[in-house]
Amino acid sequence: MSSSFVSPSSVSAAPAWDAVKGKIREQFGETIFKRWLEPLICKQWGVDVLLALPTRFMKDWVDTHYTDKLKTLFQEIDQNVKDIQLTVESALTSSEPARQVSSPIVQPHTSHSVRTSSDDKGSRIGLASMNNDRDDISSPLDPRFTFESFVVGKPNELAYAAARRVAEASQVSFNPLFLYGGVGLGKTHLMHAIAWHIRKSNPARRVMYLSAEKFMYQFVRALRFKDTMAFKEQFRSIDVLMIDDIQFISGKDSTQEEFFHTFNTLVDQNRQVIVSADKSPHDLEKIEERLRSRLGWGLCADLHPTSYELRLGILHTKAEAMKCAVPEKVLEFLGHRITSNVRELEGALNRIIAHSQLIGRPITLETTQELLQDLLRATSRRVTIEEIQKKVAEHYNVKLADMHSPRRARAVARPRQVAMYLAKQLTTRSLPEIGRKFGGRDHTTVIHAVRKIEELRGGDATLSEDVELLKRLLQQ
Ligand code: ADP
Ligand code: MG
Repeated sequence: MSSSFVSPSSVSAAPAWDAVKGKIREQFGETIFKRWLEPLICKQWGVDVLLALPTRFMKDWVDTHYTDKLKTLFQEIDQNVKDIQLTVESALTSSEPARQVSSPIVQPHTSHSVRTSSDDKGSRIGLASMNNDRDDISSPLDPRFTFESFVVGKPNELAYAAARRVAEASQVSFNPLFLYGGVGLGKTHLMHAIAWHIRKSNPARRVMYLSAEKFMYQFVRALRFKDTMAFKEQFRSIDVLMIDDIQFISGKDSTQEEFFHTFNTLVDQNRQVIVSADKSPHDLEKIEERLRSRLGWGLCADLHPTSYELRLGILHTKAEAMKCAVPEKVLEFLGHRITSNVRELEGALNRIIAHSQLIGRPITLETTQELLQDLLRATSRRVTIEEIQKKVAEHYNVKLADMHSPRRARAVARPRQVAMYLAKQLTTRSLPEIGRKFGGRDHTTVIHAVRKIEELRGGDATLSEDVELLKRLLQQ
């Protein structure tokens, strides 16, 4: 998201540092991590890794107790690391996680040195370096963003297939590959996955991945230092160039111009170019027409908003990756309720898992709803009796028509009663109104249904859970 773009060098650094922190947490356990290591900030990543802590006391403690282990861990991630140094930076407070992750960090110093994938301890290839290394201005890649961890469903299958094809092809197939779609739907994930794949399967191919902002920043800097030749030089030997979030150069004329040249040069030399944006080339505003049309020449693959099935698949995969047994009902609930994008969905899952681990209690629908109140409230709306009938019918696998029909068989009568009960609970409709909506039944039938369900909820755990789930699905 644009708001998280603090400085060009920090843009993609945050997830990588997050991943490293994840490993630190895994290795040292929750208690030690929380107490001593969570506030760590990576100030520099090179032969020496410089880590900052907020107080001298913490620094000394970590120094005596944990540096050796930290060193081993960093070396596992980047074999070029020789030493870990700690420093005190008192301005840091642990209550500012957002700042911490976006501080200028994680730049393993030589190119091609780190990699973790689904198996985490797997082979090693590198995150590229930035700033000081003239030869490679790539942004770091997030080790979690691989093809293996990408869940494929209808809404993203084309984009996925295209990304895979480009990653696996030995020759340029479509140029450029243009990936587009709304925020948090997996564009960056797919681009990183392509880069990881190529780096692993064909390390000789030079892949460069940059956010459009970083491209712009580098270019503007080159202009300032009258060094545009060196800037251009950087792209000469690139086999695959990826520019993420190209919409950021809209309105920036000289950057567009430069990008256009770089782009043309590479395409003419039959190098692969991959671009992402939040809109199709056609809809990109304030981008020069010739560039827009050029961007549309190759293959455009869009990522559609997620479907319920895809969201559920993603939740399963993520919960599994975090080795956390989240009850199916909770996953279903999240899948139904958090529909905006995958990033939010992930955030919600992380929040409930972290909470349950911290306080050592199992995850339930209740705690989930409590914890996610703010998120859920944002999507709150009024429920109608029709929606209730539809959801209940779906849930119990009966026909919608049975909500109105005179049939009294238990298999349909009970779901109908549940629906009446929910209608009473979740809407402001009167009993006679509710009766009418259920095939013109009398209000006494509705009273009876409400009492019946209340009574059953006392002793029948399954029914009680069903009702809770339905309620939550429908509510807000
Ligand atoms: P975008 O670049 O389109 O804004 P990202 O690629 O940053 O979105 O995705 C946001 C988050 O959602 C990332 O953590 C990413 O791993 C995750 N994500 C998105 N789509 C999928 C998917 N299909 N499977 C697994 N994770 C996904
Ligand atoms: Mg992105």
